[in-house]
Amino acid sequence: MAFLVLEGLSKTFGHTAALSDVTLSVERGELVSLLGPSGCGKTTTLRIVAGFETPDRGRVLLDGRDLTGVPPERRGFGMVFQHYSLFPNMTAAQNIGYGLRVARRPAREIRRRVGELLELIGLLDAGERYPHQLSGGMQQRVALARALAIEPRILLLDEPLSALDAKVRVTLRNEIRRIQTRLGITALYVTHDQEEALSLSDRVVVMSRGCIEQVGPPEEVYGEPRTEFTASFIGSMNRLAGVAGADGTLAYRGQILRLPPDAAVPAGRAATLVVRPEAITLTVDGGPPPSGRANVLAGTLVTRTFLGPVVRLIVDVDGEYLSVDVPGAQRRAYPQGGRVWLSFDPGAAIVMVPSAAMEDGGT
Ligand code: ATP
Repeated sequence: MAFLVLEGLSKTFGHTAALSDVTLSVERGELVSLLGPSGCGKTTTLRIVAGFETPDRGRVLLDGRDLTGVPPERRGFGMVFQHYSLFPNMTAAQNIGYGLRVARRPAREIRRRVGELLELIGLLDAGERYPHQLSGGMQQRVALARALAIEPRILLLDEPLSALDAKVRVTLRNEIRRIQTRLGITALYVTHDQEEALSLSDRVVVMSRGCIEQVGPPEEVYGEPRTEFTASFIGSMNRLAGVAGADGTLAYRGQILRLPPDAAVPAGRAATLVVRPEAITLTVDGGPPPSGRANVLAGTLVTRTFLGPVVRLIVDVDGEYLSVDVPGAQRRAYPQGGRVWLSFDPGAAIVMVPSAAMEDGGT
């Protein structure tokens, strides 16, 4: 059995179903992030695991033991929140040692452990400073060290980097990953930031409206989204909605596109090809369509957005705007208003077939 198991968790607040039948297993030493838009139930899940919230149905098991009825302080979990929540009247070292003092550990052991943790978070020289003398990023490092001091069985992090500026966020998320891997600690990490989730997790849990949409390693939830929600929430994507033909094709805006080789969509069914902007190749329309590619569309370049390493081009294809990413260095090759060919390999696309209920107008 997995180290941490969430079994059929449901929770309602008044008329709001915050969680509906959430089941998840986390292995020892894994960092699993809960990713989704505001209100999808991430924090509620974390609070149930922490013991701050009681589920209406379902239970949480740690190492095979049911935690129902075990109060938060007896669960032995470390927590880091969005707001640093350090004790303002204690130095960084005193904050870090707090849990050990409460546990009445010998002074010598506390000193040694605090020293180790200050070194681990790269703040060996800042132990005597008070929180107001530390930057936001430093305070969050101290909060992390404080959570780790008690050698928690699980580390729970709720948007720990949201209040920090972009650069500090990137540095600190790498730090968190380094420390978590080095200590081999099991961690649940709540975030609404897909880049953060993809870059630091072993597995990502994509949530929407209190339910789990998909669980998988970052490459999988990005590269093989199983639902339109996952595809649209993680990264950008183009949706080419059409009607399937009998021979593995899709009729899309008067053109015939090939579906991925393994797609089995009955003829006549509505289907959507999902293609990432980086999977589309662009050629300037100076002649016949590019040969050797099954899926080719003609379009007009509408806008360009410089994103650093890549430039995102918006191309009007018969009234529908598609996004295409090209290397930044190529941006001048595509003049605004110019005609272009878009092409993509059918195998680089994913096909989504709406359920019969959705086609009938349900949700
Ligand atoms: P955010 O990123 O905005 O924190 P979230 O994904 O963490 O969102 P939750 O905080 O788990 O979402 O909330 C899920 C739903 O439950 C929301 O609709 C929220 O308004 C509601 N909710 C959460 N806690 C309470 C509460 N104590 N009382 C009433 N409603 C609540």
